[in-house]
Amino acid sequence: MASVEPEPAPESVIPFPSTMQTLHAQQSARKNEHLLHTVLDNMEQGVLMFDADARLVFCNRRYLTMYGLTEELAAPGRSLRDLLQHRVRLGNFSDDLDDYIARLMACLAEKKTFCNVVSSGDDRVVSIVNTPLTDGGWLATHEDVTDRQKAQEQIAHMARHDALTDLPNRVLLRERLEHELKRVKRGECLAMLCLDLDHFKSVNDTLGHPIGDELLKIVADRLRGCTREPDTIARLGGDEFAIIMTQLQQPSDAAALAKRIRNSIIKPYQIDGHQIVSDISIGISVAPLDGTEADKLLKNADLALYGAKSEGRGTYRFFEQEMDTRMKARRDLEMDLRNALANRELELYYQPLVNLQTNEISAFEALLRWNNPTRGMISPADFIPIAEETGLIIPIGEWVLHTACRQAVSWPDHVKVAVNLSPAQLKSRNLVKVVTTALAESGVAANRLQLEITESLLMQNTFATLATLHELRKLGVQIAMDDFGTGYSSLSYLRSFPFDKIKIDRSFIQDLSNGAEPLAIVNAVAGLAKCLNMISTAEGVETQQQFDALQAVGCTEMQGYLFSKARPAHEVDRFFAEDATKAAGAA
Ligand code: C2E
Ligand code: MG
Ligand code: MG
Repeated sequence: MASVEPEPAPESVIPFPSTMQTLHAQQSARKNEHLLHTVLDNMEQGVLMFDADARLVFCNRRYLTMYGLTEELAAPGRSLRDLLQHRVRLGNFSDDLDDYIARLMACLAEKKTFCNVVSSGDDRVVSIVNTPLTDGGWLATHEDVTDRQKAQEQIAHMARHDALTDLPNRVLLRERLEHELKRVKRGECLAMLCLDLDHFKSVNDTLGHPIGDELLKIVADRLRGCTREPDTIARLGGDEFAIIMTQLQQPSDAAALAKRIRNSIIKPYQIDGHQIVSDISIGISVAPLDGTEADKLLKNADLALYGAKSEGRGTYRFFEQEMDTRMKARRDLEMDLRNALANRELELYYQPLVNLQTNEISAFEALLRWNNPTRGMISPADFIPIAEETGLIIPIGEWVLHTACRQAVSWPDHVKVAVNLSPAQLKSRNLVKVVTTALAESGVAANRLQLEITESLLMQNTFATLATLHELRKLGVQIAMDDFGTGYSSLSYLRSFPFDKIKIDRSFIQDLSNGAEPLAIVNAVAGLAKCLNMISTAEGVETQQQFDALQAVGCTEMQGYLFSKARPAHEVDRFFAEDATKAAGAA
């Protein structure tokens, strides 16, 4: 406490003066005063009291330390102006002195509290409250709110930025987009870019999340390096980014930015001793051409991104109206597919596989058909991808397994049933259980079930996937590699798992008449299968010439229209009757 004149004890406290009582009263007043000193000096806030003439009555120690004042400078009796002038000199009063005093006095004259938050000139923020007192003076409190303000700013920043990359998040992107769209209404153009890293998930899955995070940070830096100051780059979550490109002269400016970004993103990344390559897909919508509302522009850029991804990724696409139409049609299809199982619109057709050594049917492949009352028969090539994306493939795949096993149980024991598996099914935890139940409920022996998986599934190869495959094989189920040759480094996948069968993709078979090369490939695969003790199946055999060529290179099994198209379940028995007749004829 700087200095407080001890006030005489109020008379009313001593109704019947006597020497003893006076002494007591003085002691008690000193005690009160000491108490007041202690409280005031230990307060977090600076406290000052002024009288009606704007002269200091007292101030506490905290006020002195806050502004670096001495007791002398803040002694009772000093005028407010004096005090503030010292602070101006010390560099911690940045307001206009006369203006400040005038505003304060005007407010107090009206018996109103005068509050303000000021920067004290040394990066500190102080909240000041001046409360008028009944005698015409006032009480002022000064509170250092720098930390509180910083925390609030931090919270406000976090609410609008992504923690990993410190880029604006979806909230801030929207705010900026709304803001920029006002300029579009005044005649400017802008482009909205939605970006998605290709195969980022596999980086996370194979190298771990810390490396994935590091990659995202570098990608964010590279994006910063491709854009100009007024553009906004945002991270929307996961591997999704967005950019608002302002002051667009023509749509080709956005295409140029997209190309620049791709060139930067595809450069290899060195993270923790790993070399990583990545690519990016970009969708672009342009305002006002493709919309003047934030929602519509974002949605259209997203549709364009979807278009870029379905065109094989690593590319950019501008929004086109048909994308919207196609997406709506797709959504309708998805809605219908959701009801297909319950409405019993799904059916399994079966196509025979013929063993070339015995000339007998060795297996039937179950091929899914969707017979919708309004759409008619829909090819699995059209609806399986949608079922995969929506997760519907899990219940549908389970239905296929159960149905195929139930129908196959009536076939001769040596005839197997082949079922196609989707990547999503293999990733789901309970596939082994679904297979075990389907076998147990139908009574089909495990070694009569063949599961077909594609290379794309092994490209997303994780330990969990391989472990599931091994578990299935332990049950006695056979595993076939489907559509072999359509993926990337096919041979290395053959080493990763001991397949029972390789199905050579029908594109190779169709090419057989186009020179020696396709035949050489089929020859090599058939030879490889033989060495590895696997069955080699040629898919899509349609002509006798293909049949002869394939037999000559040693394929062990064939499937195709030459033998039969896929047929409904109730027609399968006919094949066995034919087989039996053939056998009887041969005998
Ligand atoms: P896939 O497993 O490679 O099946 C073979 C496809 O080739 C079938 O088409 C079959 O009808 C067709 N095909 C057979 N022989 C010939 C031929 O000689 N010439 C020609 N041009 N085509 C022939 P489909 O039934 O349209 O099935 C297409 C794909 O849909 C299948 O390819 C498979 O990947 C997928 N699929 C079918 N059913 C299921 C299922 O139950 N689950 C899953 N996950 N996928 C399925
Ligand atoms: Mg198949
Ligand atoms: Mg196939």
